[in-house]
Amino acid sequence: MIILKLSDESTKALNLCLNTRCNFCRETCSVYEVSKMEFDSPRAKLELINEALNGRVDPKDIMITLNRCTSCKKCVESCPYGIDTLKILNEFRNLVRESELKKNEHEYVVKTGYPRKLISNFVEKGNPFGVEKVEGHIKKNSDIVLFPGCIILNEDKELLNKTKKILDKLNISYSISNSCCYSALKNFGFSKKEISEMFESRYKGGDKRIVTLCAGCYNSLKNDHGRDIIHITELLLDKIKKLNLEKDDLVTYIDSCKLGRYNQIYDGPRKVLESIKNLKIFDIENNMEDAPCCGGGGTLKQYFPAVSRKVTQKLLNQKAKGTTIVTGCSYCKHNINQNSDEKVKHVIDLVFESMR
Ligand code: SF4
Ligand code: SF4
Repeated sequence: MIILKLSDESTKALNLCLNTRCNFCRETCSVYEVSKMEFDSPRAKLELINEALNGRVDPKDIMITLNRCTSCKKCVESCPYGIDTLKILNEFRNLVRESELKKNEHEYVVKTGYPRKLISNFVEKGNPFGVEKVEGHIKKNSDIVLFPGCIILNEDKELLNKTKKILDKLNISYSISNSCCYSALKNFGFSKKEISEMFESRYKGGDKRIVTLCAGCYNSLKNDHGRDIIHITELLLDKIKKLNLEKDDLVTYIDSCKLGRYNQIYDGPRKVLESIKNLKIFDIENNMEDAPCCGGGGTLKQYFPAVSRKVTQKLLNQKAKGTTIVTGCSYCKHNINQNSDEKVKHVIDLVFESMR
């Protein structure tokens, strides 16, 4: 068995956690909250990783258990010692993939449940759906590059059309990128360098400011690819009055993990909603940094769809009665719609419906 070694920084963090035995992160974990299984606690994940690093278990044998994670970052936020469990988890995944995949691909795929087809879609076609040609056009003189991301481009074209109509009405010229942000590959052990090379080889928007409706794309483009990016609600804020929005409706706004906990974007989407006359806005019971996860992130949905649905249901239990859930993330919208009977809207859906 090959002995794996984390970076010095992660080794230090892992040892600190193992010495404290505090387990504060457990009660906040989106997966533990619904399963109440000890092996789902973030700390248990770190213990398993430690066992593998010390050669007491085969790293491949623990990968499935480690995949019971939505990347919600609640464990990182709640740790009094500032331990970044997610960083350690992804570093470990990368070590295992690099050491084991080439050695015996078949065994690696079988034991870890590595989704070979999905990965080849990302690598060869540039999107998770394996679509050959995805809509997109880059114009030299546009004001911004709209980065819809794979979900909108392939599964929610209506939202793309609404966005285009809003931008047209505001006289904002835009290009449309058909690139993927590739952030999902982190969950399958790809390194930052590999992800960055894939993105740079496909993205054609240059250095122009990017605007997105997806929290995952926002986080990845900002923090992994170092791009100048804003969320669509930040773009609309100072122009929204021109749209003269009005809608008699009741909504509950939810903070997505990657807009909120990852990037502290709380105000923009709320202010855009507040600009809609007659709209009554409620917050979910636990909001902002304590906001519940939609259950669609990380690897949970891919490997444990039934648990993912329970995480979604836990979020829906917190919405105000008689309201429609509204999110600033196209992926959260897609996931909740898939995981439940709820009809979720993006803030942009609502802006479009409120235009007069
Ligand atoms: S990650 Fe932090 S909160 Fe969780 S058990 Fe370790 S030290 Fe405690
Ligand atoms: S990122 Fe979320 S789901 Fe994953 S271990 Fe941490 S708290 Fe649990």
